[in-house]
Amino acid sequence: MARIDAGEYGYCESCGVEIGLRRLEARPTATLCIDCKTLEEKREKQMAQD
Ligand SMILES: [Zn+2]
Repeated sequence: MARIDAGEYGYCESCGVEIGLRRLEARPTATLCIDCKTLEEKREKQMAQD
């Protein structure tokens, strides 16, 4: 969680968009915006099936 100290907290580490405050409140450790997180979860499900 050094990311908080680095001042990058609140920005998607994939696309750089600012993560909504509501999302951070729901999931304070989020490092991806909702769009990237959704894509990531889809990828993980696909990988799990393989
Ligand atoms: Zn993103």
